[in-house]
Amino acid sequence: MDINSWPMAIEKNKKLEDLKKATRSAKVSDAICALLHLSELYNKDRNKLAFTYARQALEKSIQFDRKENIGEAHLQLAIYFCRSRTDYITSLNHCEKALQFKAAFKTRRELAEIFKTMGVNYFYLGELRKAQDNYKNALNFLLSIAKKGKEEIKDIADLYYNLAILNRSQETIHLRKEFLEESRKYYEQINMPTGVARCSDGMGVYHFYAGNTKKAMEHLLQAIKMFEEAGDKEGVYLASNNIGTIKIKTGKFNEGLVYLMKSLQLRKKTGNPIPIAISFINIGNALMDKRRFKEAIIHLLDAEKILRKTKSKIELASLMCAMSRCYKHTKDFEQAVACQAEYIELHEELHRYELEKAYNDTTARYDLELMEKNATIDRLKNFEIASYIHRLEISNTELRQFAHAASHDLKEPLRTITSFVNLLEKHCQNKIDPTGREYLDYIITGTKRLEELVKDLLNLSRINLSETPFTDVNLNEVFKDTVSSLATMIAERKAQVNCGKLPIVSADKAQMFQVFLNLITNGIKYNQSKQPLINIRASKSGARITISFSDNGIGIAEQYQSKIFEIFQRLHPREKYSGTGIGLTICKRIVDRHHGKIWVEKNQPKGSVFHISLPA
Ligand code: ADP
Repeated sequence: MDINSWPMAIEKNKKLEDLKKATRSAKVSDAICALLHLSELYNKDRNKLAFTYARQALEKSIQFDRKENIGEAHLQLAIYFCRSRTDYITSLNHCEKALQFKAAFKTRRELAEIFKTMGVNYFYLGELRKAQDNYKNALNFLLSIAKKGKEEIKDIADLYYNLAILNRSQETIHLRKEFLEESRKYYEQINMPTGVARCSDGMGVYHFYAGNTKKAMEHLLQAIKMFEEAGDKEGVYLASNNIGTIKIKTGKFNEGLVYLMKSLQLRKKTGNPIPIAISFINIGNALMDKRRFKEAIIHLLDAEKILRKTKSKIELASLMCAMSRCYKHTKDFEQAVACQAEYIELHEELHRYELEKAYNDTTARYDLELMEKNATIDRLKNFEIASYIHRLEISNTELRQFAHAASHDLKEPLRTITSFVNLLEKHCQNKIDPTGREYLDYIITGTKRLEELVKDLLNLSRINLSETPFTDVNLNEVFKDTVSSLATMIAERKAQVNCGKLPIVSADKAQMFQVFLNLITNGIKYNQSKQPLINIRASKSGARITISFSDNGIGIAEQYQSKIFEIFQRLHPREKYSGTGIGLTICKRIVDRHHGKIWVEKNQPKGSVFHISLPA
C-alpha cells in the first residue's frame, strides 16, 4: 500500500467498522441506514459486499415497510449489478423498482443517480437514445439544485462526460467536444484532476476523429501524465489504449502494440470486463493490420466471450466487424458472412440513433432560428404598438382638451342667448300671438337642454383631466352630502333613500359625489312606484369592495344593460324622462379612473341594481 494513503485508509476502515456496528442497532431506521451506507461505500470500490448489505437493507425495509429505504436499497442493487456484475438488464430492473418509490426519495441527487444508472445500462446495451434521455433527465435534476455540493458537481461533470462519449459519428462529433468542455469546467470547479484528465483523454479521441492526429496525441499524453500524477490506474490504461490504437492506425505498429499490451495487462488486474474486451479488440485489429490473422483471432475470441455475456452492443458491433475481416483472410467464409451479418444488424441499429440525433439537432437548430426570427418580428411589432399607443395618447389628450375647451367656450354665448331669451319673453309678454309664444317656448326648452348638455359634457371632459390626488374618502359622508343636495327631488317624489354602513376608500371625493348623485337621481327619476325606494349597501370580497344601488324603478331590459353606459344612449324619449344620456358615461369614466368596474343587474321583484366595485 502507498504509505501516503495510510491515514485515509485508516479513517475509511474506522468508518466501515462503525457502520457495521450500527447495522446491529436496536433502532430499525439506524440499522437500515447503516446497511445502505455500507452498500454505497462498497459500490464505490466495486466490492461485491455492496450486494450483501443492499440485500439486507432491502429485506429489513420491506419487513418494516420503510418506503424510502426500499427505493434506496433497489438503487444500490442497481448500481451493484451495473458496476460489479455488468448485468445491465438486472440493474435496469432494480432501477425500475427504485423509481416506483420515486416520491419517497429525500433528495434530487438520489433520483438523478437512478436515471444516471439507467443511462449507463442503456449505453452498454447499445440503446443510445435511451441512454441519452436518462443522462439528460439526471442532469436536469442535478442542475435544478440551487446549492450544489461537491458530490453534485462531480455527478454533473460525470454526466456531461457520459453524454460526450455517446457522440462518435461525423454528424455529431461537435457535440462530443461541447459536452467535454462542459464536463471539464465542472471537474475543474471541484479540483478533480482525474476528471480533467478523463476530459483530456476524450478530447484526444475527438481530435483523432476530427482528423488532427498531432493534437490528439498532445491531449492523450497530457491525460496519461495527469492520470499518473493522480494515481488513477484505470485512467492510465484508458489513455494508453487510445494512444496505442492511434499509433497503430498511423503506421507505428510496434510502438502501438506495446501500449495496447500494457493496457491489457493492467486492465486484467482490475477485472472490469468491457475495457478488457476493448483491449482485446484493439490488439486483434492491430495484429490483423500486420496480417497476423491467427494471433488476431485468438484475441478477438477472448473479447467475444466477454461481450456475449455483458450484451454490450457497441463493442460487439466493432468486434463483429473485426472478426468478419479476420475470418475472410483465414478463408473461413461461412464465419465471415455470419459475423458480417451480425455487424450490419448491430451497426444499423446504432447508426439509426446517430442519424436520428443528427436530424433532431438540425431540427432544434432550425427551431432556434425560427424563434429568433419570431422574436425580431415581435420586437418590431411591440415597437409599432408602443408608437401607436403614444400617438393615441396624444390624440386622446388633444380630444379631451378640445371637448373641455369647446364646452367651456360654448357656455359663454349660451349664457347670452339664455339671458336675451328671458328678456325677450318679458318684453313680448302681452304683444305676442299664440304661434309666436309656441316658437318662443321651443327656444327656451332648446336653450335649457343645450345648457344641460354643455354642463354634462364639461363634467365628462373634466374627469380624466382632474389632477386631484386620491385621499381616504368616507363614503358615509359622500352619501350624506348627496342626499342633502337632492333634498328637493327626494321630497317631491316622497322617495326613501336608505344606506347601510359604507367603507372608506382611496378616491377623488368630488368624483365619488358625482357617482352617488347620478345613480341616486336615476333611481328616483326612472321610477313610477308611488314611493321610490333606493337602498345602498357595501360588501367586501377579497381585495375588492362593492357598493350596490338598488331601486324599485322601471328596470332595464337585459339587452340594454351595457349600452346605457355609452355616451348619449337613452332608452326613453325626452318628453317622458328628461336627461342627456351622459350621466352613466360620467359614472363609468370615474369608476375606470379609480381602477374599478360598474355594471347593472335586474332588481327583485322589480327595478335595477347598479354595482360599483373598487379596490379595497
Ligand atoms: P340620462 O341623462 O338620460 O339619465 P344616463 O346616462 O344617466 O342618462 O342614463 C342612460 C339611460 O339609462 C337613461 O336614459 C335610462 O333609460 C337608463 N337608466 C339609467 N338609470 C336607470 C335606472 N335606475 N332605472 C331604469 N333605467 C335607467
